[in-house]
Amino acid sequence: MKMDKLIEKLSRRLSHKNLITMIVILSVSIIAFLGVIFRNDITLPLSNLTSPVEDSNAASMPPLVVIDPGHGGSEPGAGSGQINEKDITLAISLEVEKILNEKHIDNILTRRDDTAVSLEDRTKLANEKKCSLFISIHNNSFTDPASHGILTTYNPYSPTGESNAEIMQSKLKTLGMFNRKIVPRPNLYVLRRTEMPSLLLEIGFISNKNDLKLLTSSDFQKKCAVQIVKGIEEILETNATASSESSSED
Ligand SMILES: [Zn+2]
Repeated sequence: MKMDKLIEKLSRRLSHKNLITMIVILSVSIIAFLGVIFRNDITLPLSNLTSPVEDSNAASMPPLVVIDPGHGGSEPGAGSGQINEKDITLAISLEVEKILNEKHIDNILTRRDDTAVSLEDRTKLANEKKCSLFISIHNNSFTDPASHGILTTYNPYSPTGESNAEIMQSKLKTLGMFNRKIVPRPNLYVLRRTEMPSLLLEIGFISNKNDLKLLTSSDFQKKCAVQIVKGIEEILETNATASSESSSED
């Protein structure tokens, strides 16, 4: 009888212990579970709070380049027979886009097909996206068919305009066209209305026989795109270094 009571008591105590153990495990689990939820509740708003601070620091943002193929749709630009400036500028721009994508440089084209886009919409897009660099691609034309060559135009009121144009032209002059160097153009709409460094490239003369032959060659268009991207990369690098140096001086 005594033995029976002892066993009963022991088994009660054991089950009591088991119950306590279960309660402890359950409590720990609930606390751990709540902890996960609680921690997530804190990190979400915290991360939301910190990201705009990072966004406001333009130097730490990956660069975004807007490529602007001149003309389009009902605005063919300069022409020679069946050949229109709008088609050449688009072909070169699409090659530039391809290389930028391969190099993982963020980019937007103001048009990707044969559509008319107003100058206002082109600059508005670049300003709204707060892009790092705006590159407009055109071809030249003149009444004298002897005029030929490649040049980079810039806004003389932009602090980096001239130096950026020098960088770009140093790449373009290797393409085998006559080097017309850099030209300040204070009245060009897209250069004046863009709120970031911008350049307008005049890739050869459609009105010149030799330039036109190059411009319509897909091989030249590709080589041209390679040099434009080299210019873009060097300009982005130079401007990023300049802005990080100026911010460290503050
Ligand atoms: Zn044009």
